[in-house]
Amino acid sequence: MLTGAGVSAESGIPTFRDAMEGLWAKYDPSQLATPETFDRDPETVTRWYDWRRKKCSRAKPNPAHLALARLEKHLATQKRGFTLLTQNVDRLHQAAGSRNVVELHGAIWVWRCTRCGIEREERGGPFGEYPPRCACGGARRPAVVWFGEMLPEEAMEKAGEALEACDLFFSIGTSAVVEPAASFIHTARRRGAKTVEINREPTPITPVVDWSLLGKAGEILPEVVRLAFGI
Ligand code: NAD
Ligand code: ZN
Repeated sequence: MLTGAGVSAESGIPTFRDAMEGLWAKYDPSQLATPETFDRDPETVTRWYDWRRKKCSRAKPNPAHLALARLEKHLATQKRGFTLLTQNVDRLHQAAGSRNVVELHGAIWVWRCTRCGIEREERGGPFGEYPPRCACGGARRPAVVWFGEMLPEEAMEKAGEALEACDLFFSIGTSAVVEPAASFIHTARRRGAKTVEINREPTPITPVVDWSLLGKAGEILPEVVRLAFGI
């Protein structure tokens, strides 16, 4: 399974392609989520992430997250593997009960010092300073993967192993244009996996998949899991 921001959209967390509201409407997320913008203007970037943290902390898993957690549990009873590769940073999959989750883009709840590298969980309320500072004096940033940055090596290794062993691949709520996740479908296909896409709109991989299901993940996924697996 590969999931993207579309899976959390129905939980009230906007994708980067959705227009932003209020204060942030004039900003472009693809410009804010970069190391260059953080270097130039760490205050604006961390204030934006604080706003996103607040949205994520209020969000609850939706029927799409819950269906994936149900499916994993069901497959475990049949001794079949299940790996959830997610580009989401909100940890709603884990909140729904998914266990084998690989965070390809990190998590918004973990903040890393740009000087000494120490990481700390930040679940609480708004920060008191922007950017928040580490005890060593360094600026802290979210431990998420920004545009132009490499994916964590361990996550990429786990993704590679899962794709090697994969016989059924789902791409759900992702625009399928951001590498390297965009090429996962091709790896799975070469390996002989059957492929399914669930998205509100067609994407570059729509012509390639065995089944394309157009619509909302929170509506389609529970139905697919019910019909295909009887759960
Ligand atoms: P993306 O490339 O995954 O695009 C979102 C996709 O979801 C689009 O193709 C859209 O058509 C689809 N979609 C929207 N609502 C849907 C629904 N209800 N059902 C099914 N499909 C739906 O992601 P992005 O927004 O371009 O974000 C880029 C990166 O930013 C992400 O990979 C992630 O690291 C980060 N991000 C994370 C979150 C989160 O954790 N919830 C949200 C936004 C962005
Ligand atoms: Zn530090």
